[in-house]
Amino acid sequence: MAQRNTWQRERVRSALSDAPGFVSAQDLHAALRDENTGIGLATVYRALATLAASGEADQLQSPEGEAIYRACASTGHHHHLICRVCGKAVEIQADEVETWAKRTAAANGFTDAEHVVDIFGTCAECAARGATGSEARAD
Ligand SMILES: [Zn+2]
Ligand SMILES: [Zn+2]
Ligand SMILES: [Zn+2]
Repeated sequence: MAQRNTWQRERVRSALSDAPGFVSAQDLHAALRDENTGIGLATVYRALATLAASGEADQLQSPEGEAIYRACASTGHHHHLICRVCGKAVEIQADEVETWAKRTAAANGFTDAEHVVDIFGTCAECAARGATGSEARAD
């Protein structure tokens, strides 16, 4: 029973690896639908949650509050620079942030502190095309 949907999860996993940056469940579902896989949106959500829980995918919140995912090259703790326009992501180490977070937590008597720091902006290619995050929104 637990193995029944393995091929679907594998398919979602490979679609996530093919994506150039962070994508939402809807984005992945649309890509899989184009390939006529017959995988439903609910299955994509479940597969992404499983991959995120097992550490095979990074999950974070877009500035719009949407959950977005990526199959990351690094498995250890790291941060991201994410383009708001095209979703491209760069994995970054942030030694200053690690030092600051540890010091700030300790100064306030906190132990086992964790932090989430990701930087959203417009990448160089999108900026060169004149695209910005706000123009990308249809309103
Ligand atoms: Zn990552
Ligand atoms: Zn971009
Ligand atoms: Zn960190």
